[in-house]
Amino acid sequence: MKKFSHIYVEKDVKDHPRAVKILEKFPKSTVVYINKYSEVFNRPNQNYIVQKDRQNLIIAKKRHSFVYPGSKLCEDFGNLRFYHTSNVYNCLYQCDYCYLQGLYPSAHIVIFVNLEDYFEEVDKLLEEGKIYLSISYETDLLALDYITGFCEEWIKYASSRDLLLEIRTKSANFSHLEKIEIPPNVIFAWTLLPQPVIDIYERFTPPLKMRLKGIQRAIAKGLKIRISIEPVMYVRDFEKVYEEFVKEVFNHIPAESVRDVNIGAFRMSKEQAKRIERLNEASPIFSYDTVFQDKVFTYKKARHYEEFVAEKVKEFVPEEKVYVFGSQF
Ligand code: SF4
Repeated sequence: MKKFSHIYVEKDVKDHPRAVKILEKFPKSTVVYINKYSEVFNRPNQNYIVQKDRQNLIIAKKRHSFVYPGSKLCEDFGNLRFYHTSNVYNCLYQCDYCYLQGLYPSAHIVIFVNLEDYFEEVDKLLEEGKIYLSISYETDLLALDYITGFCEEWIKYASSRDLLLEIRTKSANFSHLEKIEIPPNVIFAWTLLPQPVIDIYERFTPPLKMRLKGIQRAIAKGLKIRISIEPVMYVRDFEKVYEEFVKEVFNHIPAESVRDVNIGAFRMSKEQAKRIERLNEASPIFSYDTVFQDKVFTYKKARHYEEFVAEKVKEFVPEEKVYVFGSQF
């Protein structure tokens, strides 16, 4: 369990049952009451990278902008009404390619405890028809579930609604969800990359083998899972590394338990890439042949990398289940 030296709590939610429950888990942390999370989160002159090693927790109330239309840089799986929402800003993991470091001024984790207001907003959207909602884009919600319990609450919410709910994760922490009912409109999407890529780019994340074990638990529960091979990052011996990786994945996961697979090369907006470069010039993401293309920062050979991995995946999974991001353009 990660320790937080300080936990900042907005006065408005200090008695909220979810806030109380979270605080009970960290009896040794110093609690500081604040008016708005932005007082801490938006302080000037914070260094995201330095702060990441001394992350604190902020418990807050989200007051507006609960749900956003999905980004063009994210796979929508052909869903026309694609949205995402964030109950948490920032993440326990530290991936070099993470766009959050180019997005937020602070690395502290903000947990918005007023889930009921999110549910109300999503209900309004559902009045106009079904939506596809991703709830784990600006964090890894499953990795934080031992603190928040939010996955279980969203799963219960989704079980009586006409929406597709996606929980994207790198966590291996599935065991606590084994006991609850998970309806078919909840999609667990595991982000998987070869171990040499994890070693270089994904600090603090579980190794591939542990993620595969987490997936096996989900499959044993009868779930059809989504595999997200994204972002495909370049490493030395690219073809060999990715070929072995795809084999390892499908040696552990039966293709019939796979709902679909999405593959997308590393890409981020030009502004985010520039901010990350200012924060960490030595980041390995800048070590290979990259390019700015239509305001997007990506590999020169992004399409080639995606297509190579897709061809390998198609040896195990039917073509119609394989979504390749670059092919949308
Ligand atoms: S798991 Fe996702 S949200 Fe967390 S650091 Fe990595 S890329 Fe960012």
